Amino acid sequence: MSRIPVIAANWKMFKTNRDALAYTRELAALVKPVSGVEVIVAPPLTCLATVVEVARNTSVGVAAQNAHFENEGAFTGEVSAGMVKDAGAGYVIIGHSERRRLFGETDESVQKKVRAAVRAELVPIVCIGETLEEREGGRMIEVLDRQIRVGLKDSSADDLASLIIAYEPVWAIGTGKTATPAEADESHRHIRKRLKEWWGAEAAGKCRIQYGGSVKPDNIKELSALADVDGALVGGASLEVAGFVKIVKGAAEGHREKGTGPR
Ligand code: PEP
Repeated sequence: MSRIPVIAANWKMFKTNRDALAYTRELAALVKPVSGVEVIVAPPLTCLATVVEVARNTSVGVAAQNAHFENEGAFTGEVSAGMVKDAGAGYVIIGHSERRRLFGETDESVQKKVRAAVRAELVPIVCIGETLEEREGGRMIEVLDRQIRVGLKDSSADDLASLIIAYEPVWAIGTGKTATPAEADESHRHIRKRLKEWWGAEAAGKCRIQYGGSVKPDNIKELSALADVDGALVGGASLEVAGFVKIVKGAAEGHREKGTGPR
């Protein structure tokens, strides 16, 4: 089954509206001729409207980096998934490891946010991944299973088929350490296997599983060539448009080579 890889730029808490405008214009022009890859930008909320406006009628999609699970209410400082949709985004990142580690998000809050995103007709990009301690303690599989089982509880096979999972080993985020292709392959295959067991082969075959963690122009091609890797969620290396475009092109090349390398 051929899935279109999706490359998303997570700007985190970087960039002004002026930066966002220039970046998105340039990105849209540079990725226009690139086919077979879905490209998304996740700006900070203050730049969401700017990116939506510039990306309109281009191939670039727009994501929020977070959204609250309630539709509305007295939640100072928060925005709902419906509001993100209203602002023109099509996707929302949920449960990024920085949100889990720094802002107390749990598998339970991730689950509520996934439901809220689906209700709002946003595509959730659900982040999962083990810490170094969990990996070294032999608990990687247990952690991934729990994050999938709890975070995606009440998701139907149809929901699963259209959402995106970002496998981001926490020890690889912003550290310069990337999972080796063998490590990424093992985790992605495991995730796909569980999706198949729990939601069936058809939904599992459609769900896209991105890799995230120190992705750069020089490692994306090899990662993208892995059978169960469907693109990447990119932090640091997405901040500069030229480098991000190289990653988009590398993903397209890697995707074309899928299945032709050693397994
Ligand atoms: C991320 O923020 O999701 C991420 C993977 O960051 P980096 O690419 O900088 O490791």
